Amino acid sequence: MDISNYKGVLVFVEQRRGEIQNVSLELLGKGRKIADELGVSLIAAIPGYKINNSSNLLVAYGADKVVIMDHEDLETYTTEPYTQVMTEIIEREKPEVVLFGATSIGRDLAPRVSARLGTGLTADCTSLDISEDRLLMMTRPAFGGNIMATIVCPDHRPQMSTVRPGVMTKMERDPSRTGDVVQMPVSLEKNPMCVEVLKFEQVMEAKQDIQDAKILVSGGRGIGSKENFEVLYDLSDTIGGMVSASRAAVDSGWLDPSHQVGQTGKTVRPDLYFACGISGAIQHVAGMEEAELIIAINKDKGSKIFEVADLGVVGDVHKILPLVTEEIKKINASKKVTD
Ligand SMILES: Cc1cc2nc3c(=O)[nH]c(=O)nc-3n(C[C@H](O)[C@H](O)[C@H](O)COP(=O)(O)OP(=O)(O)OC[C@H]3O[C@@H](n4cnc5c(N)ncnc54)[C@H](O)[C@@H]3O)c2cc1C
Repeated sequence: MDISNYKGVLVFVEQRRGEIQNVSLELLGKGRKIADELGVSLIAAIPGYKINNSSNLLVAYGADKVVIMDHEDLETYTTEPYTQVMTEIIEREKPEVVLFGATSIGRDLAPRVSARLGTGLTADCTSLDISEDRLLMMTRPAFGGNIMATIVCPDHRPQMSTVRPGVMTKMERDPSRTGDVVQMPVSLEKNPMCVEVLKFEQVMEAKQDIQDAKILVSGGRGIGSKENFEVLYDLSDTIGGMVSASRAAVDSGWLDPSHQVGQTGKTVRPDLYFACGISGAIQHVAGMEEAELIIAINKDKGSKIFEVADLGVVGDVHKILPLVTEEIKKINASKKVTD
């Protein structure tokens, strides 16, 4: 393969019901940095149906060029049509780097696209850098999260990676940015499409996502039981946060898996993260270390969580948390009186 023909960075932009997903804007932020470092342009490739009005947003978040692939069979994600159009745009544009969100869609799509292109794919990356010889260094946890492995794809193009939501940061929205917007004609091969979308039904009510919370009160095995989580809910209600958990707490059935923080849970980046009765295993820390302020409460002063905490309290969480909540309630009450 002549890899010198490949230039540029391309981000797969994921939309659901026409709404651009946050992870795609985060990838545009990272893609912008990589493109600037390589001195190339950044393309946002968006498949969907009647999605023309999203192009300004994608340019404002860093894209130099937006390629719209508009077709009614692309309205709701299904594997084959999306694989066809993404393979085609990559073959046309020949980018050296392609990024996908590690969402249920990205995880289904990216491996198929990479197989059709005959290139590699590094899944679930937690950091991306450019080496001195312009290679994409894709870092992800390996061997059960015990080491961080940096993987390169030296002989094939594009270099492809999926990145989990919340890992990269969006760039500041800049409405003054300008970029090209082009439509790629879409003609889909009918034969391989053995899946037909009959209707779309939203079965779950929209729930608040721990990835959007500014404050998280997170509990681990040290909380002891589902009932004991009450003290965490009490604190989070008082300070306007959400409750999240370590995998040990989720595996014990104390909280829904959608609230799990960490390597196999979600990556969160709140302003404030309380780690209560959590030991700080590498797989947990991978999902919360980017929080602005980390307060850890643990009865074991040698606990690893204190290595990443900004403020550590050694003691029994069941005694400390109610005191913290009580104090905050007093402060809130006195503020109301003053107001
Ligand atoms: C492939 C793989 C993926 C994984 N993915 C994840 C993931 O996404 N997220 C995740 O969290 N884990 C994940 N894990 C599991 C991880 O390795 C740990 O087992 C897990 O994080 C431990 O959870 P914990 O800290 O709640 O429990 P423990 O490690 O058991 O720690 C409990 C802590 O509570 C403290 N404690 C006990 N009682 C009290 C008390 N009364 N007051 C204060 N402190 C107290 C203890 O001192 C201890 O430090 C993964 C593991 C593997 C192998």
